[in-house]
Amino acid sequence: RNQIEARGIHDERVLQAFRTTPRHLFVPKDHMAASYEDHPLPIGSGQTISQPYIVALMTEQLALIGKEKVLEIGTGSGYQAAILAQLAAEVHSVERFEILARKARSTLAALHLANVHIHVGDGSMGWPAEAPFDCIIITAAAPEVPQEVLEQLGADGRLIAPVGSRYRQMLELWTRLPNGFEKEEILPVVFVPLMGKLGWQDPNEP
Ligand code: SAH
Repeated sequence: RNQIEARGIHDERVLQAFRTTPRHLFVPKDHMAASYEDHPLPIGSGQTISQPYIVALMTEQLALIGKEKVLEIGTGSGYQAAILAQLAAEVHSVERFEILARKARSTLAALHLANVHIHVGDGSMGWPAEAPFDCIIITAAAPEVPQEVLEQLGADGRLIAPVGSRYRQMLELWTRLPNGFEKEEILPVVFVPLMGKLGWQDPNEP
């Protein structure tokens, strides 16, 4: 009520998913006390669970009605995947760190969210084996939205991603049209980098 709703998230289904998802189960024990504050927290492997407001905003922009097949690139803790699982039919999420993927799988299983499938690998090229997707959400900062990933959107599909430099990005919402793509800028944000073949290659690159 004071953070997500107060900052303008109105989709009742999205708000309900936040009410029923225990964020404290997605953060390491030593950060549990802060798990309902509106900021990111470290989850190990140099990665973070995103700020709840940004998770809510990105989710709301996807305008899910419950029938969608969704791809998330950057599983991290699995929290965003847990929210998506309650709002879409099927979620595929890709994580490059096996240790994070395993932890996310066990948290999601404990919550009985059986419609999430976590894959380990480089998601910077999307996940062609499961394409097409109705929606794609990239939860790591990309230098640009890879064309290969856009092509994995089905008709009228929507993609949301933070795009820009290593330390500052713009949230971009892309929509597939009959003859191309439309792009809308949503909000400046800061995410950890999307590494990999179509992401950043050197973790120390500016
Ligand atoms: N959505 C997550 C937070 C994402 S943090 C949550 O709800 O907790 C970004 C994640 O993207 C990190 O876990 C990082 O390891 C992962 N990542 C970065 N580059 C990747 C790539 N090429 N493929 C898959 N995962 C990647």
